[in-house]
Amino acid sequence: MRLFHYIAELRTYLQSLRREEKSIGFVPTMGALHEGHLSLIRRAKGDCDVAVASIFVNPKQFGPQEDYQTYPRDLQHDLQLATTIGLDAVFAPDVDEMYPEGYQTYVEVQQLGRVLEGEHRPGHFIGVATVVTKLLNIVQPDRAYFGQKDYQQAVLVERMVRDLNIPTEIVVMPTVREPDGLALSSRNAYLSPAERQQATILFRSLLLAQQALCRGERDAQTIRKEMEALISKEPGAKTDYVAIADPETLDILSKIPEQGAILVALAVRIGKTRLIDNMLLTPQGAQINPMQLRRG
Ligand code: AMP
Repeated sequence: MRLFHYIAELRTYLQSLRREEKSIGFVPTMGALHEGHLSLIRRAKGDCDVAVASIFVNPKQFGPQEDYQTYPRDLQHDLQLATTIGLDAVFAPDVDEMYPEGYQTYVEVQQLGRVLEGEHRPGHFIGVATVVTKLLNIVQPDRAYFGQKDYQQAVLVERMVRDLNIPTEIVVMPTVREPDGLALSSRNAYLSPAERQQATILFRSLLLAQQALCRGERDAQTIRKEMEALISKEPGAKTDYVAIADPETLDILSKIPEQGAILVALAVRIGKTRLIDNMLLTPQGAQINPMQLRRG
């Protein structure tokens, strides 16, 4: 496993692979690797000749009151995992390498970046779009892998590569969960044992939405209110938002359509920890894999 801290060295390595006509799969991460990340890496290894991951806690996607300083960082442990799983290379730059003095260029995906998470975390998706553009330019992968866990991010990146003619195929993989349904997240490390129990409320409220669809509920507002009521019963949990939206445009739905797919997405604070989750469902309540959604 090769470790690179500098863009120029990574580029030299990747150029030699490209000359040998090797296909490159890329997994961008912020580190503190868990099974969710590993599922993307395994897929990248399966699909491509060479698998590369980046580990970079991107300061530009954190708001001033957010957890940039405390975000879990453990490069040595991540590198051990990366070696075990058979990653070919890890790119772990310093902030100065990505944003040297004088840096002043940002990428904004307008509408998709302003709703849902974007509304609650102003500027977040400008930071995401900017760092993903930079990483895709640096690595120039054939395919890049993203998790459904951050569904809006995946949709936004798909839009961005199309809009900016970036020649990378975006692959979106299903959310990996704990046995009790909690979506794996680096931020789960913040939870106390009591909060860890409370955190299952996100998944439980998604199951409630699924049940409502199964019984034929067609009013999105009713489903949303039922979810919020369930969350409000969990001590320590506070809803940031619950949204029922079109999975492609992310427009809020008032009625459940007869056909197609719907996105149920939410953000909940458990104590000081802000967690997000989502499900893609048919109007009848069956779960859909993100790759089953045809976007294009
Ligand atoms: P992060 O390190 O949190 O920025 O995540 C890096 C990538 O891993 C993103 O594409 C995430 O959507 C994905 N990811 C994070 N958690 C999970 C999960 N539980 N299941 C699948 N993918 C995930």
